[in-house]
Amino acid sequence: MVARVFVITGPSGVGKGTLIRGLMERLANLELSVSATTRAPRPGERDGVDYHFLTREQFDRRVADGEFVEHADYAGRSYGTLRSELEDRVRAGVPVVLEIEVQGARQVRAAMPEAVQVFIAPPSLQALRARLVGRGTDDQTEVERRLRVAEQELEAQPEFAHVVVNDRLDEALERLAGIVAENLD
Ligand code: ADP
Ligand code: 5GP
Repeated sequence: MVARVFVITGPSGVGKGTLIRGLMERLANLELSVSATTRAPRPGERDGVDYHFLTREQFDRRVADGEFVEHADYAGRSYGTLRSELEDRVRAGVPVVLEIEVQGARQVRAAMPEAVQVFIAPPSLQALRARLVGRGTDDQTEVERRLRVAEQELEAQPEFAHVVVNDRLDEALERLAGIVAENLD
């Protein structure tokens, strides 16, 4: 069966969102799964577009009702992929991209082994720190928290069939787009 679900994972700040934006510009028929989270919106983030922003109660209710394909706790918040983001698209043959952390990627691997999984790695932990700080969305405590998680996540790299090092953005995008394109037809 042709794989139509693409999981892009890797540590926070590595450039997943940036690469996915580039990917969607190149491959126009791809659609992005909008995740649910209990994290507060960052300035400029829109409900239903960047995330489905849920209260703890709403999130836990959806977990209890079996509405998630995968969900995980990350840096003190919950994140998850709703079945409703995937089911119609998969049925219709529309390729879907998931941008999720490593625990979620493992759950998708178990539930949908045909999904194509790509781990985005930083050239170094120093570069990762610089990107998290440079992005300016997280305070120092949150940056340190994300870097601690990142060290564990980086150890998961060998689990992934595809690893793309995001050193030079244009080269990383070229490789990612190549992996996706070769699994589309
Ligand atoms: P993620 O979605 O993985 O958390 P982002 O896409 O938000 O990461 O990228 C984090 C920061 O790093 C952003 O400010 C982005 O512009 C920058 N960035 C992304 N890729 C590169 C790269 N190859 N070189 C330098 N900076 C990058
Ligand atoms: P952020 O708070 O920076 O938006 O996201 C934090 C982390 O949660 C990132 O690594 C991001 O990829 C991950 N994430 C976003 N959505 C989901 C999701 O639906 N499921 C899982 N497991 N992780 C997610």
